[in-house]
Amino acid sequence: MTPSAPARADAPLPGTPFVAYRAGQLMLEDVALAELAQRHGTPLFVYSRAAMLGALAAYQRGLAGREALICYAMKANSTLAVLKVFADAGCGFDIVSGGELERVLAAGGVAGKIVFSGIGKTRAEIRRALEAGIRCFNVESLAELDVIDEVARACGRRAPISIRVNPNVDARTHPYISTGLKGNKFGIAHEQALAAYQHAARLTGLQVVGIDCHIGSQITEVAPYVEALDRVLDLVGAIEAAGIRIRHIDLGGGLGIDYAGDTPPAADALWAALLARLDARGYGDRALMIEPGRSLVGNAGLCLTEVLYLKPGEQKNFCIVDAAMNDLPRPALYEAFHRIVPLRQPAPGASATTYDVVGPVCESGDWLGRDRPLAVQPGEHLAVLSAGAYCMSMASNYNTRPRAAEVLVDGGEARVVRQREAVQDLWRGETA
Ligand SMILES: *Cc1c(COP(=O)(O)O)cnc(C)c1O
Repeated sequence: MTPSAPARADAPLPGTPFVAYRAGQLMLEDVALAELAQRHGTPLFVYSRAAMLGALAAYQRGLAGREALICYAMKANSTLAVLKVFADAGCGFDIVSGGELERVLAAGGVAGKIVFSGIGKTRAEIRRALEAGIRCFNVESLAELDVIDEVARACGRRAPISIRVNPNVDARTHPYISTGLKGNKFGIAHEQALAAYQHAARLTGLQVVGIDCHIGSQITEVAPYVEALDRVLDLVGAIEAAGIRIRHIDLGGGLGIDYAGDTPPAADALWAALLARLDARGYGDRALMIEPGRSLVGNAGLCLTEVLYLKPGEQKNFCIVDAAMNDLPRPALYEAFHRIVPLRQPAPGASATTYDVVGPVCESGDWLGRDRPLAVQPGEHLAVLSAGAYCMSMASNYNTRPRAAEVLVDGGEARVVRQREAVQDLWRGETA
């Protein structure tokens, strides 16, 4: 089990470079988290701008000197202030719905840097994306090619497209977040990809610009990426031999983060390996696109929660907190592990009790951490770490629980970037 406190005072907590205890207080950058919890209440998501930009910088270093566009996969965390950090840093965005398109445009994202993924794009979404002038549709089926062609011709445009190919590579991750195997619903099978490109090239509403794949999420090894790249390059060779030029190669996202002692490669190390392969195979001149989500925001965020009750039991002790599966759905959804630490550093030698940390929602699946040694009392606060990705963006109102507030930290400054939802907001539009 991962220890709940760092080995020495002031050392950053594992995986989260800007989280550390200072004088016994948990800090994010130069902000004391206990003060934020007092001022804004809990549950409260808090994000570090420096951590996001630091994660982005690793990709930028890895891709330096190449024609490359980093498209942040915004479904990981689509809060406007988070999008703005990446838009200001020059990023593009990977979107998966018309809602995400409007959201990222509202945050100042540039349409010409947006790629649109997803297997179920509606005609209305396609039309709106064409009118906005997005960079590329990442197409996931033959039927979708025909629909995009039809919509584009109807509005007098040519839609830039890339086909998402399924390289049939095992990303060796959780089955719910593995997407590059034959049994997955995503992409067009490797074997059918050439025919799909030939079909696309004949459609006058389309312009073939690239090829893409995305093999899964929370990937912690380099090898599956190299395998996927090899498979994609095999196809680029075949497609270009058929006279269809592939201008960009998009290798998707999926790089993992350290949740529980995981050791994914650094983004720059991963890209050193991929660029070496690309060059060796003679495709070093192609424009590159990538779609990282989790690895840009996951370890930049945490969720503060108050201990409500301690409930000792014969088989289990429960630490009941005010955050729940509606705020932090990953444990319930994937049995995911998040480190959980107290905001006040326990005294050396303080005796810890082992708890299951659970929320108030009426589901046995509503747990945030199992068998955690903690020395806490009701009224004290905990931080659930690595909560920047696939937490707030997946939050729901189950049990009529308003969604949490969010704060963005930059150095010693902390700014509320999303107000806590009011309970009256929850039945807006309803009729009794
Ligand atoms: C979700 C998704 C991503 C981002 O995945 P991460 O694991 O968060 O990096 C990238 N591309 C596509 C098509 C996706 O669906």
